[in-house]
Amino acid sequence: MIANVYLKRGKEESLLRRHLWIFSGAIARIENDESLLEGDIVDVYTSDRKFIARGHYQIGSITVRVLSFQQEEIDQAWWTKRIQEAHQVRKAQGLTNNENTTCYRLIHGEGDMLSGLVVDVYGTTAVVQCHSVGMYHARKQIAQAISDVYGDNISSVYDKSSRTLPFKAGVNSCDGYLTEQRGSTGYVLENGLKFEVNWEEGQKTGFFIDQRVNRELVRRYAKGRRVLNTFCYTGGFSVYAADGGATEVVSVDSSERAVELAARNMTLNFGESYPHKAIAMDTFDFLKEMDNSFDLVILDPPAFAKHHKVVHEALKAYKRLNAKAMQKIKSGGILFTFSCSQAVNKEQFRMAVFSAAAIAGRRVRILHQLTQPEDHAINIYHPESEYLKGLVLYVE
Ligand code: SAH
Repeated sequence: MIANVYLKRGKEESLLRRHLWIFSGAIARIENDESLLEGDIVDVYTSDRKFIARGHYQIGSITVRVLSFQQEEIDQAWWTKRIQEAHQVRKAQGLTNNENTTCYRLIHGEGDMLSGLVVDVYGTTAVVQCHSVGMYHARKQIAQAISDVYGDNISSVYDKSSRTLPFKAGVNSCDGYLTEQRGSTGYVLENGLKFEVNWEEGQKTGFFIDQRVNRELVRRYAKGRRVLNTFCYTGGFSVYAADGGATEVVSVDSSERAVELAARNMTLNFGESYPHKAIAMDTFDFLKEMDNSFDLVILDPPAFAKHHKVVHEALKAYKRLNAKAMQKIKSGGILFTFSCSQAVNKEQFRMAVFSAAAIAGRRVRILHQLTQPEDHAINIYHPESEYLKGLVLYVE
């Protein structure tokens, strides 16, 4: 029997505005909960017993992740319909059948009304990443839905949830294929450029698809510039900079494996002779020691704030990082600076960068304000699905 979650009086407000999370503090009581387990489907009612939503039950500050505002069956047909809707959007964006770009995000959690789920497509393989136990329980239906929608165009589905499921849920998941066929890792194309992708071993789902559009902007500004790409991982920005005509590219990452991958991606696209240096080093140390000869610098660090409690510390780190880069960038230099911390909002990030400019004492213009690309769609009722922020600065 489905458990019923009753909200405290007035706590239905955010649900009426179609927000998808119900916090523990909004809940008055749960009925029929004798056998309720994390990940089960529950129905949510207002204090005057009106049905308002159906979703996945979770233990933690978010207690329900809403799947639907109707009392409908969450069966195979339902999953296939949701995946089909998301596919329609990517089709409209020109991503599903694009010979220059073979990787894109199919499901962006709340942005696609599937809170707790991420699916990225790499050629003929889809990589599923569950952030909630409810989504993890549904992984086989999700894989079936992908196969229903794509037919032969997707031959394998890989589950990579072991590191994204809530630790306390104790699910003990092992990553692996949900389909009989195993995908063969190789390279994908993004805007005509080649990138080695390994979803089994790489970070996140294998590649950071969310910088696709911003990388194109780096390509536009790179001509004739000496480029420094910090926190480079696969060397995404490095490859675009070289393609745009950079005179030299230096890629820095603290991970040895990342810089090796960046180097391989540069060779894959431009051969051995391109002037690229890949350096395994902490970015803060590199910036401290480097000279003033770079005139295009990219700062794309990992999320400094993984939750709200550490926002203050994260803002200090963004300030320190940006101040260092602004002190060292050549006059007339272009600085691409990003934050992918969901807990840090656009205004806070901009304020941190503003403080950095003041510390560096340089004249700085904001040329572009960047965000995530169209396949990382933002649910208008759920602004938390917007997480990537970037600024392109001209430093005099
Ligand atoms: N810009 C990349 C994505 C960056 S992900 C892209 O376009 O795909 C963040 C990267 O920062 C990871 O590869 C991680 O190894 C690296 N990293 C984390 N802390 C670091 C530090 N202090 N110095 C240098 N690299 C760091």
